[in-house]
Amino acid sequence: MTSWKDKREFWISGAKVADPEAGKIRAGSVLIQKGMIAGIVWQKSPETELPVFDAGGLVLAPGFIDIHTHLREPGFEDKETIESGTAAAVAGGYTSILCMANTDPVVDDPSVVEYITRRAEESGHCRVYVTGAVTKGLEGREITEFFHLKRSGAVALSDDGKYISDSKVLRAALEYARVLGMPVISHCEDPYLTADSQMNEGFVSTRLGLKGAHSASEEIAIARDIKLAELTGAHLHIAHISTAGGVDLVKKAKKKGIAVTAEVTPHHLTLDETMLETYDRNLKVNPPLRSAADISALKAALRDGTIDCVATDHAPHNEIDKQVEFNFAPPGMLGLQTAFPQLNTELVKNGDIELIDLIRLMTSSPASIMGFPGGRMKQGELADFVLIDPDEEWVFEKQMIRSRSYNSPLIGKKFKGRVKGVFLEGKYLEDVS
Ligand SMILES: [Zn+2]
Repeated sequence: MTSWKDKREFWISGAKVADPEAGKIRAGSVLIQKGMIAGIVWQKSPETELPVFDAGGLVLAPGFIDIHTHLREPGFEDKETIESGTAAAVAGGYTSILCMANTDPVVDDPSVVEYITRRAEESGHCRVYVTGAVTKGLEGREITEFFHLKRSGAVALSDDGKYISDSKVLRAALEYARVLGMPVISHCEDPYLTADSQMNEGFVSTRLGLKGAHSASEEIAIARDIKLAELTGAHLHIAHISTAGGVDLVKKAKKKGIAVTAEVTPHHLTLDETMLETYDRNLKVNPPLRSAADISALKAALRDGTIDCVATDHAPHNEIDKQVEFNFAPPGMLGLQTAFPQLNTELVKNGDIELIDLIRLMTSSPASIMGFPGGRMKQGELADFVLIDPDEEWVFEKQMIRSRSYNSPLIGKKFKGRVKGVFLEGKYLEDVS
């Protein structure tokens, strides 16, 4: 397929073309010119003199967009680099990702934004957007220079990994962010209620003898942040929502017209607290895996639009980090390579949502939350695509992992649905899946 790498003008034909905004998957062909979508026809093969890439009946969707990735570079290159993280992204069907600010140094200065942007240009396999920190050193005290972060290329603001406990600091941040039109992404967990916690608080945590984090810790945090979003008029984006109570709060806020959006991770939608019975350190995440009732509420919220999109919270940790007592293991799991197959297997194939809904939650929805290009199947958009076989059965093996870390609880899992190829601005990326 090498010949497709540099074709500037060609058709992709014989595809089932997924249009997330129209909510449809139909037989069609797409014309690509200079990295953009130049036209779409709803027929299997166009009459043309141009080169034709035969999609062979696969689903052609806009490339996935992840608005919650930890790339770990700079500072933690033993866990992940921009090169390895974006390789994992492409293998998972992603063409754009938004990386978080908890690197070392923290992304609280324009020089770090510029560093990541340059490293992404040099070594990245897909488009990388950068989140700037809300507070200096993620310490929750003094807000950073949002204007300078934005001017150097940051597109959103977040202290992800930490909650901003000081309400006055968050209020000032939201005021400033609103003026600049930047979304503030909030990691909603009250740090006092979650201190030393290992998992969700409840019957299972008691039985396992692990300290729990009650769902109230998320709900309290979301409630305050929504209040401040209402007060300031800023766009608040709730990261990795995990509780039924949190969903209720977002639903009410949206009804009131407050500018709040929310994401959910594949793991919070598909894995529950009882799985911690194995003490698998790769299941330790913040916020923790919740109850079956929470999962039902999260799925319902995906269907009724309370939750806007899926985001991975891809959080690499190397094996040495995780090979310690459960209490000392750092939270986080990989997500980029398994997001689509896991959700296709667990949600689409079980009838919770349709394939086109999953595609929308991973493309046009995150694009509109962050104001990114791409994610849409229409003329004039970026020719970023993922080719999907929604029915292929395969096993996720450790040697398939493109990250530098292997902290996935899904190694050995049988999936239905597989990413078969990726186009980035009309260029077919080789050796993807
Ligand atoms: Zn977080």
